[in-house]
Amino acid sequence: MHPEIDKNLCVECGACEKACPGLAPAKAEGNTPRASIVQHKNDQIRYESTSGGAFTAIAEEIINRGGVVFGASMTDELTVKHIFVDTVEELACFRNSKYVQSEIGNCYKEAKERLTQGQWVCFSGTPCQINGLYKYLGKDYDNLIAVDVVCKSVPSPLVFQKYLECKKQKEGNITDVVFRDKKRGFLYCTMAHYLSHEDRQNAKDSYRRGSESDEWLRLFLSGKISRRSCMSCSYQTLDRVGDFSLGDIWETGHPGLDDNKGSTLVHVWTEKAKTFLDSIYPKIRCVEYPIEKSRGVERKNTLNVPPNRNLLFEDANNMTADAFIAKYAPNTMKVRMKNTSRYLLWKLGLQNLVRHVKHLIIHRK
Ligand SMILES: Cc1cc2nc3c(=O)[nH]c(=O)nc-3n(C[C@H](O)[C@H](O)[C@H](O)COP(=O)(O)OP(=O)(O)OC[C@H]3O[C@@H](n4cnc5c(N)ncnc54)[C@H](O)[C@@H]3O)c2cc1C
Ligand code: SF4
Ligand code: SF4
Repeated sequence: MHPEIDKNLCVECGACEKACPGLAPAKAEGNTPRASIVQHKNDQIRYESTSGGAFTAIAEEIINRGGVVFGASMTDELTVKHIFVDTVEELACFRNSKYVQSEIGNCYKEAKERLTQGQWVCFSGTPCQINGLYKYLGKDYDNLIAVDVVCKSVPSPLVFQKYLECKKQKEGNITDVVFRDKKRGFLYCTMAHYLSHEDRQNAKDSYRRGSESDEWLRLFLSGKISRRSCMSCSYQTLDRVGDFSLGDIWETGHPGLDDNKGSTLVHVWTEKAKTFLDSIYPKIRCVEYPIEKSRGVERKNTLNVPPNRNLLFEDANNMTADAFIAKYAPNTMKVRMKNTSRYLLWKLGLQNLVRHVKHLIIHRK
C-alpha cells in the first residue's frame, strides 16, 4: 500500500508532508546512549522471542503499571497488523519478528487516547513507525515508552501472500508461521510453518528451512522485495528515535550467556529508558555492553533499488504463485547443497564452531 494524493481534492496545505516519517525523519540529538545484553529469565519466553526476549520484559512492566502495549501481530489470515493488548498473556502475539511490513491501522489514534488519559503506553515497531507516532502525537509524553527494532528493511505483504499460496499447495492449510523459530537453536533460526496452534505448541512443523534455502527469507535478505522507502532509509544511524532499540547479538563475549537460546542487544537512548530498565532488572539477566562495539544500529543503509523492481511487482500481480517463486527464488542445485551442508553442520554440532571462526575472521579484517 502506498499513499497517493488526489490532486483534485488536495489544497496543498503540506500537512501530510510534515507528518510523513519518510520525508522528514527526526533526529534524536543529545543522547548519551548505553548498551546492554539482555535475556529474559523465563526460558519459554526467550524460546518464543526472536533474540533474548527483552521486548517482553519491557512490555510486562508496562502492563503491571496498568498500561497497554502496541506491536506487530500475525492475524489468523497470516497478515501482519499492529494491535494493542493489556494483559501479560496476550503479549505472546508480539513475540518473534514478522518479516513483513506491518499495517499500522488506527494504532496511533488509540495510543494518543490512552496517553492523554495518563495511562502507560509501550509502542513498538520499526524506527519509521515510531517516528510516525511522534509526528502524530506532536508532543512528548512521560508515560510513553517507545521501542524500535533494528531494521534493515520490511518486505512486501503482497509477495508474502504469493509465498504462502505456493507453500499451502504443498503443505495444506498453514495457520501459523514463525520467521525465527529456535527449534534448532538461536544460531540456526529457521522459518517454520504449522498447521495448527497446537502443532506449534508441540513443535510439530509442516515445514522448516533456514535463510540459506527458504524462499521467503532469501527474497527478504536480498532486499529485492523491500519497500522502496527502505532503500533511502535515514533511520539507520546512532541518533535513534525510540527510548530503546532492540537487535540481535550473536556473540556476547560472555560464555555464560552464549547458550544458543538468544540474547537481545538493547540500546538505551533516553534518561526515561535508563530508569525504566532499572525497574525490570528482577525479570532479566543484564550485562553492560561497550557502546563503541555495538555497530549494528549505526550501520549505513546498503540497499539499492534493484534494476528489475518494477517488473518483479508486475509479475507478483500477474503470475501464478508457483511461477513467481520459481522465477525470483529458484530452488537451484547450489541452494539445495547449501541447505544440506548447513543441516549437516547443525546435526554434527559444528555450526557454532564454524560461526565462531567466521566471526573471528570478520573482526580481524
Ligand atoms: C522487519 C525486521 C527486521 C529486523 N532486522 C534486524 C537486523 O537487521 N539486525 C538486528 O540486529 N535486528 C533486526 N531486527 C530486530 C530483531 O529481529 C528483534 O526484533 C529484536 O532483537 C528484539 O528481539 P526480542 O527477543 O527482544 O523481542 P521479540 O519478542 O522478538 O520482539 C518482537 C518485537 O518486534 C516487533 N515487530 C515484529 N515484527 C514487526 C514488524 N513487521 N514491524 C514492526 N515491528 C515488528 C514487535 O512489535 C515486538 O516489539 C529486525 C526486526 C524486524 C521486525
Ligand atoms: S494533507 Fe494537505 S497537502 Fe496533503 S493531501 Fe491533504 S490537502 Fe493535500
Ligand atoms: S529500513 Fe527504514 S524505512 Fe524501512 S522499515 Fe526500517 S526504519 Fe522504516
